[in-house]
Amino acid sequence: MQILLTLICNPAHPVIDAGLIDAVRDRLEDLGAIAGAPEWLAPGVACDLGCAGIPPEMAEPAVRALIGEAPIDLVIHGEKEERQRKLLIADMDSTIITVECLDEIADFAGRKNEVAAITEQAMRGELEFEAALRARIDMLGPLPEAILATAYAERVKLMPGARELVQTMRANGAQCVLVSGGFTYFTERVASEVGFHETFANRLLFEQGRLKGVKDPILGREAKLATLRRQCETLQITPDEALAVGDGANDLAMIEVAGMGVAYHAKPVVAAAARAQINHADLTALLYLQGYRSSAFHTG
Ligand SMILES: [Mg+2]
Repeated sequence: MQILLTLICNPAHPVIDAGLIDAVRDRLEDLGAIAGAPEWLAPGVACDLGCAGIPPEMAEPAVRALIGEAPIDLVIHGEKEERQRKLLIADMDSTIITVECLDEIADFAGRKNEVAAITEQAMRGELEFEAALRARIDMLGPLPEAILATAYAERVKLMPGARELVQTMRANGAQCVLVSGGFTYFTERVASEVGFHETFANRLLFEQGRLKGVKDPILGREAKLATLRRQCETLQITPDEALAVGDGANDLAMIEVAGMGVAYHAKPVVAAAARAQINHADLTALLYLQGYRSSAFHTG
């Protein structure tokens, strides 16, 4: 059996050196495996290591023990897996951008702490998403519509690697879709800034310039999964050929169904269920997982 190990760290702190890779190879060979030559996808940052004669469930704990507390992500791919994905389906808040938009809007209403506490519980999977969204919108009161523009300009920052991820996948023919339980006002702007082909999210309703509610039906966990399936049908691919990434409980269903499901700096319930976890690296990790070298990245 052939497996492929990918070790990735944050490009801002390149800590993967040849000594570590040699130690990983030695450890795997001690366990009876035959390790191939390392393939550096980015010096110091991302390295592939092919390996035969060891099941992934044996390789993983051995390599994790070697990595220890070092800020390095490890993903093990299966035999003959087609790495480059034809569809990217990404969550927005705390995945493609660094903040939760609803929490930032709430700050302008003076209710950030209460709203953020509910967001946290919902993302951990402790509250039903749709009800939690309505509750938080109710807490905002009749907020002026102009606050959205201020929140976007002042608070929304792209996650490092977001542009490289989307632009590189696009340049290689993948469909890139942003699907969010947040709001169209933000997803449409973020999508055009980053380069997504399409975006799906919830629409806030305003009356005479004041917040009134949210349009039904609310886009939650099942709608994210349905979006993944619909996109696969349109592209005539299987979910196996898709990459889904997110951090919250409402991303779980799409992450579980996609061939490459990535929990990105995710809540524990999501990390536990995802095939791949990225806890240290930035979003370019998702390109390394597909075998792209840093020299092949696009930024648009
Ligand atoms: Mg999120």
